[in-house]
Amino acid sequence: MSAPVRVRFAPSPTGPLHIGGARSALFNWLFARRYGGTFIVRMEDTDLERSSRQSEQEILTSLRWLGLDWDEGIEVGGPHAPYRQTERLELYKKYADILLQHGRAYHCFCTEEELAAEREAQLARGVTPAYSGRCRHLTEGQKQAFLAQGRRPVVRFAVPGGRVLTVSDLVRGEVHFESEGIGDFIIVKSDGIPTYNFAVVVDDHEMGITHVIRAEEHLSNTPRQILLYEALGWSCPQFAHVSLILGQDRSKMSKRHGATSIEQYREMGYLPEALVNFLALLGWSPGGEQEVLSLEEIKSMFSLDRVAKNPAVFDMDKLNWLNGHYIRQADLDRLTTLALPYLQRAGYAPASPTAADMRQLKRLMVAVRPYLSCLAEIEQHLPLYFADSVEPADEEARQVLTGEHVPGVLAGLADKLAGREEIDEEEARAILKSLPKELGLPGKKVYLPLRVALTGRTHGPELYQFIPALGPQRVLKRLVMAGGC
Ligand code: GLU
Repeated sequence: MSAPVRVRFAPSPTGPLHIGGARSALFNWLFARRYGGTFIVRMEDTDLERSSRQSEQEILTSLRWLGLDWDEGIEVGGPHAPYRQTERLELYKKYADILLQHGRAYHCFCTEEELAAEREAQLARGVTPAYSGRCRHLTEGQKQAFLAQGRRPVVRFAVPGGRVLTVSDLVRGEVHFESEGIGDFIIVKSDGIPTYNFAVVVDDHEMGITHVIRAEEHLSNTPRQILLYEALGWSCPQFAHVSLILGQDRSKMSKRHGATSIEQYREMGYLPEALVNFLALLGWSPGGEQEVLSLEEIKSMFSLDRVAKNPAVFDMDKLNWLNGHYIRQADLDRLTTLALPYLQRAGYAPASPTAADMRQLKRLMVAVRPYLSCLAEIEQHLPLYFADSVEPADEEARQVLTGEHVPGVLAGLADKLAGREEIDEEEARAILKSLPKELGLPGKKVYLPLRVALTGRTHGPELYQFIPALGPQRVLKRLVMAGGC
């Protein structure tokens, strides 16, 4: 790669960070990090009605939570500050004036009603609606007359006719567009605010962006942007349009398919490393068989030539599987801290847990985590641990407790736990190992009744993890309830 890579993520702060935006941010970040480049975050907040500082904050928080950092941009600063488009209006005005002076853009005074009437007439004639360009050649007198009427003009770009515009896309190959159908588009609105297509070109040029990696939905904007680069005498960055993300039913991913924002996934207890791994695989493939990859690993492997042209399908089962994997791998202290709010919400952990509370919650996490695909699911498992008593779940379980040897087995464990406040996995293992020998019974005759007495079921979590998670006192209560002592 010749010039040092400079890429950007340029969200419009009109809502939270969505899956698609997060994937664009990630791909840009990976590309920058892989090639020792610079990653910039810029806010495209020119939609004054829909943009908010709150959305901006939410987006930045989600990016950071995913583990993405940026070298220049919003909150970080840099040589091209400010990085918020509404704070760069002078710059857009400067370039709009240049285009006006060179006759590449013009003031248009058409009203909404006039434009609507024009559109309708075009539709009635069976032609695709596009601005006719009728303000292109207004005389000075006509302009003054409109101004005197109080009309405030927009600035339109004069699209040259008869051109074929080629986007040489690093993902999609060469894509051709006819300039004919484009119609003179607005670059500055009547309130002086630039439109997306204009501001994006000015900023990408000013910020020295070398590669524009963004969602496929912007491919159709690219010919307009190429025309602006040309008209301003600038060279284009390289473009890479990443495929759409589809829901499992192969329609465009939307709210209907479930959670769409990164924040919603965080709230459900998805871990950032799982989401990042999952997002990377939405359109990019590592080439080999291995799909469980850390951000570090992906960073060292990422390239645009492994980004697929065809749409990526959002596979919830895969996300759950990956998240389950990362939950089982996670450092136990961290996992317990992450799980705490769910436990508190369910009323099973105090608001300010003591060190002993945390030790006990860690034991709970050890027992529960093999069953979780996200932390919010923990609530379903809690009754098994916190209920005062358990009933045999079915006839088979009931039968297990009727054996003659059962009271002795239950009492055997009760003896070992009497008077204790806590027990660790290692000690529980040792106790469980010694019991059959001490009671003179085969393992099965010991473990099955204990399992039913403690869990109500004949299958379930490992007893050596379940007993510490329940804690000696609750274990004793359940042994008593089961009729053992
Ligand atoms: N503000 C645009 C968006 O959020 C950015 C598109 C681009 O990357 O050029 O979709």
